Amino acid sequence: MSDVKYMREAIRQAKKAKALGEVPIGCVIEYRGKIIGRGYNRRKTDKNTLSHAELNAIRKASKVMGDWRLEECTMYVTLEPCQMCSGAIVQARIPKVVIGCMNPKAGCAGSILNIFDVPEFNHQVETEKGMLEEECSALLTDFFKELRERNRAEKMKKALISD
Ligand SMILES: [Zn+2]
Repeated sequence: MSDVKYMREAIRQAKKAKALGEVPIGCVIEYRGKIIGRGYNRRKTDKNTLSHAELNAIRKASKVMGDWRLEECTMYVTLEPCQMCSGAIVQARIPKVVIGCMNPKAGCAGSILNIFDVPEFNHQVETEKGMLEEECSALLTDFFKELRERNRAEKMKKALISD
């Protein structure tokens, strides 16, 4: 059963990413009413393309479960997963993913591709979209707005110095 309290925790994880200057994306994995894995985007910090929120949460949940299979688990993620994470979710046999906001530029849970619903694969993933959507999407739009402003200020400073 999906529950908004888990998405709130995913948002809390996304804020940890933001505090590191990372794109704010957060994720939790729930199993029988308990969170068994948390993760947030640390791609820049870890200098690792694999350090997406979902993969970090899967790594921890697998450790807790002692299994690569995450059956009976539900993932809550603030942004629609990319092709890599959607692939890992299918591989981990996660039955359900609850998504905050969609990602028309990179999402693979329906936006560009729908890796969760390919009948030829041996596993399909149920999705629920739009949970705390405004909050999840505001996190990202605010982050990129601040980034643009910072870059602009940086450019102006450089221009002043070179004058
Ligand atoms: Zn990803």
